[in-house]
Amino acid sequence: MENNGNLIVISGFSGAGKGTVVKKLVEKYGYSLSVSATTRAPRPGEVDGKDYFFKTTDEFRNMIDYNGFIEWAQYVENYYGTPRRFVEDELRKGSTVLLEIEVQGAKNVLSQYPDAILLFITTKDVETLKERLSGRGSETPEQVQKRIRRAAEEVKDIDVYEYVVVNDDLDTCVEDVQAIIKARSCERHRQSELIQTLKSGLQSV
Ligand code: 5GP
Repeated sequence: MENNGNLIVISGFSGAGKGTVVKKLVEKYGYSLSVSATTRAPRPGEVDGKDYFFKTTDEFRNMIDYNGFIEWAQYVENYYGTPRRFVEDELRKGSTVLLEIEVQGAKNVLSQYPDAILLFITTKDVETLKERLSGRGSETPEQVQKRIRRAAEEVKDIDVYEYVVVNDDLDTCVEDVQAIIKARSCERHRQSELIQTLKSGLQSV
């Protein structure tokens, strides 16, 4: 498949603040953000089509059946998936596309897009993670507990990720991620057009 853009996969513990990091990256650098589909109920303030495409389980299964997802996974009690069309179109246009997904999805994306950058965002320690999850107030104590247990599972897969970025200070974290994305776009093998132009220009000097 033709693929000129950059695919950036951002994962992290629930509560590590990766959603905020991703929003900042989109605002500040204009990256394309893939909006996932989910069977989870909207949290207060979440908007359908902007935060997620909120689906019934049947609708979600339908999308699986017609190959509508690049990847999908079950997380705690719900399904989440990355709609295929948007990502493929944006990559074809040469855009940098951000996916904010969990680790099963990240592995799945990597197997299809070996060039994808996989980043893991974490709090600086477990205490901060617990505080942030409980302080959010959107989950019941049981759900918070489930998410902590899920984090314990996820950390076992940390080797899947090329980069681990601490989100202690939001702006620093955003700039760290941006530096990684920038470095990737400067890789020599991504600059073949420029290099060709330089070579042919210099031949006639
Ligand atoms: P939340 O319910 O907190 O919005 O998301 C729960 C988890 O699902 C987070 O780790 C989030 O990154 C992940 N997630 C969101 N969208 C997708 C998706 O399209 N695919 C996968 N695999 N995970 C997703």
